[in-house]
Parts: sequence; C-alpha cells; structure tokens
Amino acid sequence: MPTILLVEDEASIADTLIYALQSEGYSTHWLTLAGEALAYQQTTPADLLILDVGLPDMTGFEACKQLRRFSEVPVIFLTARNAEIDRVVGLEIGADDYVTKPFSPREVAARVKAILKRMQPRAVLPAALAPAVFAVDAERFQIHYHGQLLSLTRHEFRLLHTLLAQPQRVFSREQLLDAAGVPAEAGYERNIDSHIKSLRAKLRQVLATAEPIQTHRGLGYSIKAD
Ligand code: CA
Repeated sequence: MPTILLVEDEASIADTLIYALQSEGYSTHWLTLAGEALAYQQTTPADLLILDVGLPDMTGFEACKQLRRFSEVPVIFLTARNAEIDRVVGLEIGADDYVTKPFSPREVAARVKAILKRMQPRAVLPAALAPAVFAVDAERFQIHYHGQLLSLTRHEFRLLHTLLAQPQRVFSREQLLDAAGVPAEAGYERNIDSHIKSLRAKLRQVLATAEPIQTHRGLGYSIKAD
C-alpha cells in the first residue's frame, strides 16, 4: 500500500485529503511543517509527497528544493495563487504536478494515482540496444557515460533514459515531456530544449568531441546508436 506524506498546515484541508486518499487505499501521514516533513522523509520515506506551498516554516518550493538533495520522491504542490503556478511550471523546482486551491480531494487522489502509476519501474533498458558507452541503472536513477557517473536532475535522467531505450528513434518534445513525467501543456515544451541543453553540457564534460544527442529540426531529438 503506497504511503502519502501530506504536508499542509490547514487541518480542514488535510482532513478532506486524508479521507479521499484513504478511500483510494493509500496510507497517509500528515505533518504541518516543512522541516518536520524533510526529517520524516529521511527516516521513513513515503512514496509521494503532497506539499502545500504556503507552510508556516518555509515555502513548499524551498522544502522541495531541500528534498531534492536526497530524494527523487514524486511531489504534488497545493497552490493557492496563480502566481505560484508560474513557478511550479518552471519545472526547476522538481515537482511532478500541482493543484490549485480550492480543489476537489478526489481530483488530488486521482493525480496521486496517475503519478504513482507513471513512477512504476519502466521496462528494463534492453542492454543490446543501448549504446555501449552508456550504462543505465534505473533503480538508482543513475547513468554512467564512458564509465563516469553523470550528475543528472530527475528530468534529465528521465529524458536520457527515454532516448537511450530506443536509440536513433526521433522523439518529439511532447513525447519527451511525457517521458519526463511532466503534463504536456502549453509552455512546457520549450523547457525540453533547456533540459537537453544542460544534458549535452554534462555529456560534453565527459567527452567533448562526441555529440550523442541529435537535434531533428521541427521534429525533436534522438540519441546515436553507438
Ligand atoms: Ca498553508
């Protein structure tokens, strides 16, 4: 039974969410402070965090940044204002989804379900297909390139993992967004370009002369087979 850690300082909101999540068969743990949640997640990792943006001790954004230093657990933000959404969709914070208050608890439970389904281990990368210069460890979220461990963000990991699973296949930006676990909505697509740019920079640090990720103008990206 997946465990959801809910970090929300308003008891009435927490109550309805806990009820909806438990009705869907999730086990829940409720905390009101971001600091408590970070400590809790380090000792008792939940499968997914629902994080209010407006918490008493720090913003949910700051909490998520700190969380990302030690955990890849999926995060859904509860936001109160449209202005906050702009920051969430910037992706740099590392959230998986968000809902705006007031929300339907059933809708939140449905998002939780969708994310956990998406997070289920994907098919193991077929070793025969993956370019030999890459070694993927999907369970540890690690990719080695020419024997060196790449320091990747979660989105970069998922992008590279997706490209590597099918060398030479051209993926559209929308397909890559989907693979990165991000809802393909307006405004997101340009972010793929920036993630690819930073991925390339990291690959170049290992080997400056190779450019394994190829751009297909108007179509998307692929990775070389060798
Ligand atoms: Ca709040």
